[in-house]
Amino acid sequence: MHGLMQAWPLTLDKILDHAKTWHGGVEIVSRSVEGPIVRTTYSEVHERAKRVSNALLELGVEAGDRVATLAWNSARHLETWYGIMGIGAVCHTLNPRLFPEQLCYIVNHAEDRIIFTDLTFLPMLLEHRDKMPTVERFIVLTDEGHVGDTLPGALAYETLIENASSDIPWGGFDENTAAGLCYTSGTTGNPKGVLYSHRSNFIQTLITLGADVLSLRATDVVLPIVPMFHANAWGLAFSAPAVGAKLVMPGPKLDGASVHELIETEGVTFSAAVPTVWQMLLNHLRRTNGKLTRLQRVVIGGAAVPEAIVRAFRDDYGVEVTHSWGMTETSPLGTLATPNPAIAAMSPDDRLRYQLKQGRAPIGIELALVDDDENDLPHDGATFGRLKIRGPCIAGEYYRGEGGRVLDARGFFDTGDVATLDEHGFMQITDRAKDVIKSGGEWISSIEIENIAAGHPKSELAAVIGVAHPKWDERPVLLVKLKDGETATRDEFLQFLDGKIAKWWTPDDVVFVDDIPLGATGKIDKKLLRERIIRSPQSSSP
Ligand code: AMP
Repeated sequence: MHGLMQAWPLTLDKILDHAKTWHGGVEIVSRSVEGPIVRTTYSEVHERAKRVSNALLELGVEAGDRVATLAWNSARHLETWYGIMGIGAVCHTLNPRLFPEQLCYIVNHAEDRIIFTDLTFLPMLLEHRDKMPTVERFIVLTDEGHVGDTLPGALAYETLIENASSDIPWGGFDENTAAGLCYTSGTTGNPKGVLYSHRSNFIQTLITLGADVLSLRATDVVLPIVPMFHANAWGLAFSAPAVGAKLVMPGPKLDGASVHELIETEGVTFSAAVPTVWQMLLNHLRRTNGKLTRLQRVVIGGAAVPEAIVRAFRDDYGVEVTHSWGMTETSPLGTLATPNPAIAAMSPDDRLRYQLKQGRAPIGIELALVDDDENDLPHDGATFGRLKIRGPCIAGEYYRGEGGRVLDARGFFDTGDVATLDEHGFMQITDRAKDVIKSGGEWISSIEIENIAAGHPKSELAAVIGVAHPKWDERPVLLVKLKDGETATRDEFLQFLDGKIAKWWTPDDVVFVDDIPLGATGKIDKKLLRERIIRSPQSSSP
Protein backbone atom coordinates (compact mmCIF):
# COMPACT_ATOMS: atom_id res chain seq x y z
CA MET A 1 0.00 0.00 0.00
CA HIS A 2 1.35 3.44 -0.92
CA GLY A 3 1.15 6.44 1.37
CA LEU A 4 -1.20 9.21 0.41
CA MET A 5 1.00 12.28 0.70
CA GLN A 6 1.60 14.84 -2.07
CA ALA A 7 4.00 14.20 -4.90
CA TRP A 8 6.57 17.00 -4.65
CA PRO A 9 9.63 16.13 -6.71
CA LEU A 10 12.84 17.04 -4.89
CA THR A 11 14.23 19.37 -7.56
CA LEU A 12 16.85 21.99 -6.78
CA ASP A 13 15.00 24.94 -8.33
CA LYS A 14 12.68 24.73 -5.31
CA ILE A 15 15.58 25.75 -3.08
CA LEU A 16 16.10 29.07 -4.84
CA ASP A 17 12.31 29.56 -5.12
CA HIS A 18 12.16 29.16 -1.34
CA ALA A 19 15.02 31.63 -0.79
CA LYS A 20 13.35 34.20 -3.05
CA THR A 21 9.92 33.82 -1.47
CA TRP A 22 10.91 33.80 2.20
CA HIS A 23 14.35 35.41 2.29
CA GLY A 24 14.23 37.52 -0.88
CA GLY A 25 15.99 40.55 0.61
CA VAL A 26 18.90 38.59 2.09
CA GLU A 27 22.23 39.61 0.61
CA ILE A 28 24.72 37.71 -1.49
CA VAL A 29 28.03 39.52 -1.46
CA SER A 30 30.76 38.62 -3.97
CA ARG A 31 34.34 39.68 -4.46
CA SER A 32 34.20 39.99 -8.22
CA VAL A 33 36.94 38.88 -10.57
CA GLU A 34 36.99 42.47 -11.87
CA GLY A 35 37.87 43.64 -8.35
CA PRO A 36 35.02 45.42 -6.57
CA ILE A 37 32.67 43.91 -3.99
CA VAL A 38 29.25 43.33 -5.61
CA ARG A 39 26.02 43.06 -3.63
CA THR A 40 22.83 41.35 -4.72
CA THR A 41 19.94 39.46 -3.07
CA TYR A 42 18.25 36.07 -3.35
CA SER A 43 15.40 37.80 -5.13
CA GLU A 44 17.69 39.29 -7.78
CA VAL A 45 19.70 36.08 -8.16
CA HIS A 46 16.46 34.17 -8.69
CA GLU A 47 15.32 36.64 -11.34
CA ARG A 48 18.64 36.62 -13.16
CA ALA A 49 18.95 32.81 -12.95
CA LYS A 50 15.62 32.59 -14.77
CA ARG A 51 17.02 34.86 -17.48
CA VAL A 52 19.98 32.49 -17.79
CA SER A 53 17.51 29.64 -18.35
CA ASN A 54 15.72 31.51 -21.13
CA ALA A 55 19.00 32.54 -22.73
CA LEU A 56 20.15 28.91 -22.73
CA LEU A 57 16.91 27.77 -24.35
CA GLU A 58 17.40 30.43 -27.03
CA LEU A 59 20.89 29.04 -27.64
CA GLY A 60 19.27 25.65 -28.24
CA VAL A 61 20.17 23.97 -24.98
CA GLU A 62 17.87 21.07 -24.17
CA ALA A 63 17.18 18.96 -21.11
CA GLY A 64 20.10 16.62 -20.46
CA ASP A 65 22.65 18.77 -22.33
CA ARG A 66 25.86 19.46 -20.45
CA VAL A 67 26.63 23.11 -19.80
CA ALA A 68 29.93 23.75 -18.04
CA THR A 69 31.16 26.41 -15.65
CA LEU A 70 34.81 27.33 -15.12
CA ALA A 71 34.48 29.92 -12.41
CA TRP A 72 35.24 31.12 -8.90
CA ASN A 73 32.55 31.38 -6.23
CA SER A 74 30.35 34.37 -7.06
CA ALA A 75 26.68 35.36 -7.36
CA ARG A 76 26.93 35.11 -11.15
CA HIS A 77 28.23 31.56 -10.85
CA LEU A 78 25.29 30.77 -8.54
CA GLU A 79 22.80 32.23 -11.03
CA THR A 80 24.38 30.11 -13.74
CA TRP A 81 24.04 26.92 -11.69
CA TYR A 82 20.37 27.43 -10.97
CA GLY A 83 19.70 28.68 -14.52
CA ILE A 84 21.16 25.48 -15.99
CA MET A 85 19.63 23.04 -13.52
CA GLY A 86 16.17 24.68 -13.50
CA ILE A 87 15.55 23.60 -17.12
CA GLY A 88 16.84 20.07 -16.63
CA ALA A 89 20.24 20.66 -18.24
CA VAL A 90 23.33 19.36 -16.45
CA CYS A 91 25.69 21.80 -14.75
CA HIS A 92 29.22 20.53 -15.26
CA THR A 93 31.67 22.19 -12.89
CA LEU A 94 35.19 22.34 -14.32
CA ASN A 95 38.16 22.58 -11.95
CA PRO A 96 40.55 25.28 -13.21
CA ARG A 97 43.39 23.78 -11.19
CA LEU A 98 43.56 20.78 -13.52
CA PHE A 99 46.12 20.72 -16.29
CA PRO A 100 44.67 22.05 -19.57
CA GLU A 101 45.04 18.59 -21.16
CA GLN A 102 42.92 17.06 -18.41
CA LEU A 103 40.35 19.85 -18.74
CA CYS A 104 40.08 19.25 -22.48
CA TYR A 105 39.69 15.52 -21.86
CA ILE A 106 36.86 16.21 -19.40
CA VAL A 107 35.07 18.74 -21.65
CA ASN A 108 35.19 16.27 -24.53
CA HIS A 109 34.14 13.33 -22.40
CA ALA A 110 31.15 15.29 -21.11
CA GLU A 111 30.49 16.76 -24.57
CA ASP A 112 29.89 20.19 -23.06
CA ARG A 113 28.02 22.51 -25.44
CA ILE A 114 28.60 25.77 -23.60
CA ILE A 115 31.19 26.94 -21.09
CA PHE A 116 30.47 29.81 -18.70
CA THR A 117 33.88 31.12 -17.68
CA ASP A 118 35.45 33.80 -15.54
CA LEU A 119 37.79 36.27 -17.22
CA THR A 120 40.68 34.62 -15.38
CA PHE A 121 40.54 31.54 -17.58
CA LEU A 122 40.16 33.17 -21.00
CA PRO A 123 43.84 32.90 -21.96
CA MET A 124 43.85 29.16 -21.23
CA LEU A 125 40.61 28.63 -23.16
CA LEU A 126 41.91 30.68 -26.05
CA GLU A 127 45.02 28.53 -26.26
CA HIS A 128 43.11 25.24 -26.15
CA ARG A 129 39.93 26.21 -27.95
CA ASP A 130 40.61 23.88 -30.89
CA LYS A 131 40.79 20.88 -28.60
CA MET A 132 37.18 21.35 -27.45
CA PRO A 133 35.16 20.67 -30.60
CA THR A 134 31.81 20.12 -28.83
CA VAL A 135 31.83 23.60 -27.29
CA GLU A 136 29.69 25.98 -29.34
CA ARG A 137 29.86 29.04 -27.10
CA PHE A 138 31.87 30.62 -24.34
CA ILE A 139 29.98 32.95 -22.04
CA VAL A 140 32.21 35.20 -20.00
CA LEU A 141 30.87 36.00 -16.54
CA THR A 142 31.30 39.75 -16.88
CA ASP A 143 29.93 42.72 -18.84
CA GLU A 144 30.57 43.74 -22.46
CA GLY A 145 33.33 46.17 -21.56
CA HIS A 146 35.51 43.44 -20.09
CA VAL A 147 35.17 40.80 -22.81
CA GLY A 148 36.47 42.57 -25.91
CA ASP A 149 37.21 40.14 -28.71
CA THR A 150 39.45 37.94 -26.64
CA LEU A 151 37.83 34.67 -27.64
CA PRO A 152 36.02 34.04 -30.93
CA GLY A 153 32.38 33.25 -30.22
CA ALA A 154 32.54 34.57 -26.67
CA LEU A 155 29.53 36.42 -25.28
CA ALA A 156 29.37 38.69 -22.27
CA TYR A 157 27.12 37.23 -19.57
CA GLU A 158 25.47 40.57 -18.80
CA THR A 159 24.64 41.12 -22.48
CA LEU A 160 23.31 37.58 -22.79
CA ILE A 161 20.84 37.91 -19.95
CA GLU A 162 20.00 41.60 -20.42
CA ASN A 163 17.32 40.98 -22.99
CA ALA A 164 16.25 37.51 -21.88
CA SER A 165 12.88 37.16 -20.19
CA SER A 166 12.70 36.00 -16.61
CA ASP A 167 9.39 34.33 -17.27
CA ILE A 168 9.97 30.60 -17.34
CA PRO A 169 8.74 27.67 -15.30
CA TRP A 170 11.45 25.64 -13.59
CA GLY A 171 11.38 21.99 -12.61
CA GLY A 172 8.39 19.86 -13.48
CA PHE A 173 10.63 16.89 -14.25
CA ASP A 174 11.46 13.69 -12.41
CA GLU A 175 13.56 14.25 -9.29
CA ASN A 176 16.03 11.63 -10.52
CA THR A 177 16.97 13.90 -13.46
CA ALA A 178 20.70 14.64 -13.62
CA ALA A 179 21.56 18.08 -12.16
CA GLY A 180 25.33 18.27 -11.84
CA LEU A 181 28.46 16.62 -13.18
CA CYS A 182 31.83 16.77 -11.44
CA TYR A 183 34.93 14.78 -12.38
CA THR A 184 37.19 13.24 -9.75
CA SER A 185 40.75 14.46 -9.73
CA GLY A 186 41.94 11.21 -11.30
CA THR A 187 45.34 10.60 -9.70
CA THR A 188 45.08 7.12 -11.20
CA GLY A 189 43.82 6.83 -14.76
CA ASN A 190 41.53 9.31 -16.43
CA PRO A 191 39.19 11.51 -14.40
CA LYS A 192 35.75 9.95 -13.92
CA GLY A 193 32.46 11.84 -13.88
CA VAL A 194 30.12 11.80 -10.88
CA LEU A 195 26.61 12.60 -12.05
CA TYR A 196 24.46 14.02 -9.23
CA SER A 197 20.68 14.04 -9.50
CA HIS A 198 18.28 16.71 -8.25
CA ARG A 199 17.07 14.22 -5.68
CA SER A 200 20.57 13.28 -4.43
CA ASN A 201 21.61 16.93 -4.02
CA PHE A 202 18.29 17.82 -2.39
CA ILE A 203 18.63 15.00 0.11
CA GLN A 204 22.28 15.92 0.72
CA THR A 205 21.09 19.46 1.49
CA LEU A 206 18.54 18.21 4.02
CA ILE A 207 21.15 15.95 5.63
CA THR A 208 23.72 18.72 5.93
CA LEU A 209 21.31 21.10 7.64
CA GLY A 210 21.15 18.86 10.73
CA ALA A 211 22.38 20.41 13.97
CA ASP A 212 25.13 17.78 14.25
CA VAL A 213 26.11 18.30 10.63
CA LEU A 214 26.53 21.89 9.30
CA SER A 215 23.81 23.32 11.52
CA LEU A 216 23.12 26.36 9.32
CA ARG A 217 20.52 28.98 10.25
CA ALA A 218 18.90 32.03 8.71
CA THR A 219 20.96 34.14 11.10
CA ASP A 220 24.25 32.74 9.79
CA VAL A 221 26.52 34.52 7.36
CA VAL A 222 28.11 31.80 5.25
CA LEU A 223 31.45 32.08 3.45
CA PRO A 224 32.01 29.09 1.14
CA ILE A 225 35.75 29.20 0.51
CA VAL A 226 35.62 25.65 -0.74
CA PRO A 227 35.09 26.18 -4.47
CA MET A 228 31.86 25.50 -6.33
CA PHE A 229 34.03 23.56 -8.81
CA HIS A 230 35.19 21.09 -6.19
CA ALA A 231 32.48 18.75 -4.92
CA ASN A 232 29.67 21.33 -5.03
CA ALA A 233 31.24 23.72 -2.51
CA TRP A 234 30.27 21.04 0.03
CA GLY A 235 26.64 21.74 -0.78
CA LEU A 236 26.70 25.32 0.53
CA ALA A 237 25.26 26.75 -2.71
CA PHE A 238 22.16 24.73 -1.82
CA SER A 239 22.14 24.73 1.97
CA ALA A 240 22.67 28.50 2.46
CA PRO A 241 19.66 29.48 0.27
CA ALA A 242 17.67 26.59 1.79
CA VAL A 243 17.84 28.31 5.19
CA GLY A 244 18.02 31.89 3.85
CA ALA A 245 21.50 32.58 5.22
CA LYS A 246 23.47 35.54 3.83
CA LEU A 247 26.15 34.28 1.43
CA VAL A 248 29.59 35.79 1.02
CA MET A 249 31.43 34.62 -2.11
CA PRO A 250 35.22 35.08 -2.07
CA GLY A 251 35.84 35.09 -5.84
CA PRO A 252 39.43 34.39 -6.83
CA LYS A 253 41.14 35.74 -3.70
CA LEU A 254 41.69 33.01 -1.15
CA ASP A 255 44.81 34.39 0.56
CA GLY A 256 44.76 35.05 4.30
CA ALA A 257 44.41 38.84 4.08
CA SER A 258 41.50 38.75 1.59
CA VAL A 259 39.62 36.04 3.49
CA HIS A 260 40.13 37.87 6.78
CA GLU A 261 38.87 41.13 5.33
CA LEU A 262 35.67 39.48 4.06
CA ILE A 263 35.07 37.66 7.34
CA GLU A 264 35.31 40.87 9.34
CA THR A 265 33.58 43.34 7.00
CA GLU A 266 30.67 41.03 6.17
CA GLY A 267 30.27 39.51 9.63
CA VAL A 268 30.85 35.92 8.54
CA THR A 269 29.76 33.41 11.22
CA PHE A 270 30.36 30.15 9.32
CA SER A 271 32.88 29.04 6.74
CA ALA A 272 34.23 25.90 5.12
CA ALA A 273 37.58 25.14 3.47
CA VAL A 274 40.51 22.74 3.20
CA PRO A 275 43.29 22.94 5.82
CA THR A 276 45.75 24.84 3.58
CA VAL A 277 43.36 27.81 3.33
CA TRP A 278 42.97 27.96 7.11
CA GLN A 279 46.71 27.74 7.52
CA MET A 280 47.07 30.83 5.30
CA LEU A 281 44.43 32.69 7.34
CA LEU A 282 46.04 31.78 10.67
CA ASN A 283 49.49 32.82 9.42
CA HIS A 284 48.04 36.16 8.33
CA LEU A 285 46.30 36.68 11.70
CA ARG A 286 49.51 35.97 13.58
CA ARG A 287 51.56 38.29 11.38
CA THR A 288 49.10 41.17 11.68
CA ASN A 289 47.82 40.48 15.18
CA GLY A 290 44.39 40.19 13.56
CA LYS A 291 41.19 39.17 15.35
CA LEU A 292 38.12 37.14 14.41
CA THR A 293 35.26 39.03 15.98
CA ARG A 294 32.24 37.34 14.40
CA LEU A 295 33.36 33.95 13.12
CA GLN A 296 31.86 31.12 15.21
CA ARG A 297 32.34 27.87 13.31
CA VAL A 298 34.50 26.47 10.54
CA VAL A 299 34.22 23.12 8.81
CA ILE A 300 37.53 21.69 7.67
CA GLY A 301 37.84 18.74 5.33
CA GLY A 302 39.25 17.51 2.05
CA ALA A 303 42.42 16.49 3.90
CA ALA A 304 43.10 15.60 7.53
CA VAL A 305 43.03 18.63 9.80
CA PRO A 306 46.30 19.19 11.68
CA GLU A 307 46.00 19.48 15.46
CA ALA A 308 47.73 22.89 15.43
CA ILE A 309 44.89 24.37 13.36
CA VAL A 310 42.17 23.12 15.72
CA ARG A 311 44.08 24.38 18.76
CA ALA A 312 44.76 27.80 17.20
CA PHE A 313 41.11 28.34 16.28
CA ARG A 314 39.90 27.11 19.68
CA ASP A 315 42.44 28.67 22.01
CA ASP A 316 43.49 31.86 20.20
CA TYR A 317 40.31 32.88 18.40
CA GLY A 318 37.38 31.09 20.13
CA VAL A 319 36.24 29.45 16.88
CA GLU A 320 34.76 25.94 16.87
CA VAL A 321 36.23 23.52 14.33
CA THR A 322 34.29 20.62 12.84
CA HIS A 323 36.42 18.12 10.97
CA SER A 324 34.67 16.49 8.05
CA TRP A 325 35.42 13.80 5.51
CA GLY A 326 33.89 13.27 2.11
CA MET A 327 34.62 12.85 -1.54
CA THR A 328 33.26 13.95 -4.92
CA GLU A 329 31.46 10.59 -5.09
CA THR A 330 29.67 11.23 -1.75
CA SER A 331 28.06 14.59 -2.73
CA PRO A 332 30.39 15.26 -0.75
CA LEU A 333 29.76 15.26 3.01
CA GLY A 334 30.21 11.76 4.44
CA THR A 335 31.18 12.10 8.10
CA LEU A 336 31.62 14.89 10.64
CA ALA A 337 33.39 14.84 13.98
CA THR A 338 30.58 16.34 16.05
CA PRO A 339 30.57 14.98 19.60
CA ASN A 340 28.12 12.44 21.01
CA PRO A 341 27.19 12.73 24.73
CA ALA A 342 30.17 10.64 25.90
CA ILE A 343 32.65 12.75 23.93
CA ALA A 344 30.96 16.02 24.90
CA ALA A 345 31.50 15.10 28.56
CA MET A 346 35.27 14.62 28.10
CA SER A 347 38.01 17.09 29.01
CA PRO A 348 38.93 19.51 26.17
CA ASP A 349 42.10 17.55 25.39
CA ASP A 350 40.34 14.18 25.26
CA ARG A 351 37.64 15.73 23.10
CA LEU A 352 40.34 16.99 20.78
CA ARG A 353 41.41 13.40 20.02
CA TYR A 354 37.95 12.79 18.56
CA GLN A 355 37.81 16.16 16.78
CA LEU A 356 40.91 15.11 14.88
CA LYS A 357 39.19 11.95 13.62
CA GLN A 358 37.04 12.29 10.50
CA GLY A 359 33.91 11.60 12.56
CA ARG A 360 30.61 9.83 12.39
CA ALA A 361 27.93 9.25 9.79
CA PRO A 362 24.76 11.36 9.83
CA ILE A 363 21.40 9.82 8.84
CA GLY A 364 21.46 8.80 5.18
CA ILE A 365 25.04 7.53 5.26
CA GLU A 366 25.97 3.91 5.96
CA LEU A 367 29.60 2.96 6.53
CA ALA A 368 31.30 -0.44 6.45
CA LEU A 369 34.86 -1.48 7.24
CA VAL A 370 36.14 -4.59 5.49
CA ASP A 371 39.37 -6.47 4.86
CA ASP A 372 40.67 -7.44 1.42
CA ASP A 373 38.37 -10.51 1.46
CA GLU A 374 35.28 -8.38 2.18
CA ASN A 375 34.95 -9.60 5.79
CA ASP A 376 33.55 -7.01 8.21
CA LEU A 377 36.17 -5.76 10.65
CA PRO A 378 35.71 -4.82 14.32
CA HIS A 379 34.93 -1.23 15.32
CA ASP A 380 37.72 -1.08 17.88
CA GLY A 381 39.49 2.09 16.76
CA ALA A 382 42.62 0.09 15.92
CA THR A 383 41.88 -2.36 13.09
CA PHE A 384 42.50 -0.80 9.65
CA GLY A 385 40.29 -1.71 6.73
CA ARG A 386 38.82 -0.50 3.49
CA LEU A 387 36.11 2.09 4.06
CA LYS A 388 32.89 1.52 2.16
CA ILE A 389 29.82 3.72 1.97
CA ARG A 390 26.17 3.46 0.91
CA GLY A 391 23.28 5.91 0.71
CA PRO A 392 21.03 8.06 -1.52
CA CYS A 393 23.79 10.66 -2.13
CA ILE A 394 26.55 8.18 -3.00
CA ALA A 395 27.62 7.44 -6.60
CA GLY A 396 26.16 4.21 -7.98
CA GLU A 397 28.29 4.30 -11.13
CA TYR A 398 30.44 6.80 -13.04
CA TYR A 399 29.25 8.82 -16.02
CA ARG A 400 29.15 6.64 -19.12
CA GLY A 401 29.98 3.55 -17.10
CA GLU A 402 33.65 4.58 -16.84
CA GLY A 403 35.57 2.26 -14.52
CA GLY A 404 32.88 -0.45 -14.75
CA ARG A 405 30.95 -1.71 -11.76
CA VAL A 406 31.73 0.29 -8.64
CA LEU A 407 29.36 -1.23 -6.08
CA ASP A 408 29.95 -4.47 -4.20
CA ALA A 409 27.39 -7.25 -3.75
CA ARG A 410 25.81 -5.35 -0.83
CA GLY A 411 25.58 -2.12 -2.83
CA PHE A 412 28.47 -0.36 -1.06
CA PHE A 413 30.90 1.95 -2.86
CA ASP A 414 34.60 1.41 -2.08
CA THR A 415 35.98 4.84 -1.10
CA GLY A 416 39.59 3.85 -1.73
CA ASP A 417 40.32 5.11 1.78
CA VAL A 418 41.75 2.97 4.55
CA ALA A 419 40.25 3.73 7.94
CA THR A 420 39.42 2.62 11.48
CA LEU A 421 36.02 2.87 13.20
CA ASP A 422 35.87 3.16 16.99
CA GLU A 423 33.32 2.30 19.66
CA HIS A 424 31.72 5.76 19.27
CA GLY A 425 31.27 5.18 15.52
CA PHE A 426 34.03 7.72 14.81
CA MET A 427 35.87 6.98 11.61
CA GLN A 428 39.53 7.85 11.18
CA ILE A 429 41.21 7.84 7.80
CA THR A 430 44.59 6.19 8.06
CA ASP A 431 45.47 6.37 4.37
CA ARG A 432 44.43 6.16 0.77
CA ALA A 433 44.42 2.46 -0.15
CA LYS A 434 47.10 3.16 -2.77
CA ASP A 435 49.32 5.09 -0.31
CA VAL A 436 49.15 2.77 2.69
CA ILE A 437 52.57 1.21 3.31
CA LYS A 438 52.53 -2.56 3.50
CA SER A 439 55.47 -3.60 5.61
CA GLY A 440 56.02 -7.23 6.58
CA GLY A 441 52.34 -8.02 5.98
CA GLU A 442 51.17 -5.19 8.28
CA TRP A 443 49.88 -1.76 7.28
CA ILE A 444 51.54 1.54 8.16
CA SER A 445 49.55 4.76 7.89
CA SER A 446 51.51 7.31 5.84
CA ILE A 447 49.07 10.06 6.88
CA GLU A 448 49.54 9.49 10.60
CA ILE A 449 53.32 9.83 10.36
CA GLU A 450 53.18 12.88 8.11
CA ASN A 451 50.68 14.66 10.34
CA ILE A 452 53.01 14.28 13.30
CA ALA A 453 56.05 15.30 11.25
CA ALA A 454 54.13 18.35 9.96
CA GLY A 455 53.87 19.47 13.60
CA HIS A 456 57.69 19.81 13.87
CA PRO A 457 58.36 23.53 14.29
CA LYS A 458 60.78 23.60 11.34
CA SER A 459 58.49 21.73 8.95
CA GLU A 460 56.48 23.52 6.29
CA LEU A 461 55.04 20.37 4.73
CA ALA A 462 55.70 16.66 5.22
CA ALA A 463 54.87 13.57 3.19
CA VAL A 464 55.48 9.88 3.76
CA ILE A 465 55.75 7.37 0.94
CA GLY A 466 56.50 3.67 0.81
CA VAL A 467 59.66 2.53 -0.99
CA ALA A 468 60.41 -1.03 -2.01
CA HIS A 469 62.38 -3.10 0.50
CA PRO A 470 63.89 -6.56 -0.12
CA LYS A 471 62.82 -8.01 3.22
CA TRP A 472 59.74 -6.04 4.32
CA ASP A 473 58.18 -5.36 0.85
CA GLU A 474 57.87 -1.65 1.65
CA ARG A 475 59.28 0.74 4.22
CA PRO A 476 58.27 4.34 4.96
CA VAL A 477 60.43 7.29 3.95
CA LEU A 478 59.67 10.77 5.30
CA LEU A 479 60.03 13.76 2.97
CA VAL A 480 60.16 17.19 4.55
CA LYS A 481 60.01 20.64 3.08
CA LEU A 482 61.52 22.94 5.69
CA LYS A 483 60.27 26.44 6.44
CA ASP A 484 62.22 29.22 4.73
CA GLY A 485 65.68 29.67 6.22
CA GLU A 486 65.55 26.54 8.41
CA THR A 487 68.04 23.68 8.44
CA ALA A 488 67.55 20.35 10.18
CA THR A 489 68.99 16.85 10.46
CA ARG A 490 67.48 13.45 9.86
CA ASP A 491 67.86 12.56 13.55
CA GLU A 492 66.02 15.66 14.69
CA PHE A 493 62.94 14.46 12.86
CA LEU A 494 63.30 10.83 13.88
CA GLN A 495 63.61 11.88 17.53
CA PHE A 496 60.52 14.06 17.12
CA LEU A 497 58.55 11.00 15.98
CA ASP A 498 59.99 8.78 18.72
CA GLY A 499 57.29 7.74 21.20
CA LYS A 500 54.52 9.18 19.03
CA ILE A 501 54.35 6.21 16.64
CA ALA A 502 55.06 2.48 16.91
CA LYS A 503 58.81 1.74 16.65
CA TRP A 504 58.40 -0.33 13.48
CA TRP A 505 56.62 2.61 11.82
CA THR A 506 59.77 4.76 12.14
CA PRO A 507 60.78 5.92 8.64
CA ASP A 508 63.92 4.31 7.26
CA ASP A 509 65.06 7.70 6.02
CA VAL A 510 64.28 11.42 6.10
CA VAL A 511 64.75 13.33 2.85
CA PHE A 512 64.72 17.12 2.77
CA VAL A 513 63.12 18.40 -0.43
CA ASP A 514 62.59 21.84 -1.98
CA ASP A 515 59.06 21.11 -3.01
CA ILE A 516 56.19 18.78 -2.16
CA PRO A 517 53.85 18.79 -5.18
CA LEU A 518 50.14 19.37 -4.60
CA GLY A 519 47.48 18.09 -7.00
CA ALA A 520 44.54 20.02 -8.47
CA THR A 521 42.51 19.76 -5.27
CA GLY A 522 45.32 20.87 -2.98
CA LYS A 523 46.34 17.39 -1.82
CA ILE A 524 49.87 16.00 -1.81
CA ASP A 525 50.49 14.30 -5.14
CA LYS A 526 52.15 11.11 -3.90
CA LYS A 527 52.25 9.53 -7.32
CA LEU A 528 54.46 12.34 -8.61
CA LEU A 529 56.47 12.35 -5.40
CA ARG A 530 57.16 8.62 -5.69
CA GLU A 531 58.21 9.05 -9.31
CA ARG A 532 60.59 11.86 -8.34
CA ILE A 533 62.15 9.98 -5.46
CA ILE A 534 62.64 6.81 -7.46
CA ARG A 535 64.14 8.78 -10.34
CA SER A 536 66.53 10.85 -8.24
CA PRO A 537 67.18 9.58 -4.74
CA GLN A 538 68.33 12.54 -2.62
CA SER A 539 70.57 12.74 0.38
CA SER A 540 69.04 12.96 3.80
CA SER A 541 71.29 15.85 4.83
CA PRO A 542 70.26 19.35 3.86
P1 AMP B 1 37.90 14.53 -3.59
O1 AMP B 1 36.94 13.65 -4.27
O2 AMP B 1 38.85 15.22 -4.50
O3 AMP B 1 37.19 15.48 -2.68
O4 AMP B 1 38.83 13.63 -2.68
C1 AMP B 1 38.29 12.76 -1.72
C2 AMP B 1 39.38 12.16 -0.88
O5 AMP B 1 40.01 13.17 -0.09
C3 AMP B 1 38.89 11.16 0.13
O6 AMP B 1 38.68 9.89 -0.44
C4 AMP B 1 40.01 11.17 1.14
O7 AMP B 1 41.10 10.37 0.73
C5 AMP B 1 40.45 12.61 1.13
N1 AMP B 1 39.82 13.32 2.26
C6 AMP B 1 38.70 14.07 2.24
N2 AMP B 1 38.46 14.58 3.46
C7 AMP B 1 39.43 14.13 4.27
C8 AMP B 1 39.74 14.29 5.66
N3 AMP B 1 38.99 15.03 6.46
N4 AMP B 1 40.82 13.66 6.14
C9 AMP B 1 41.61 12.90 5.35
N5 AMP B 1 41.38 12.72 4.04
C10 AMP B 1 40.31 13.32 3.50
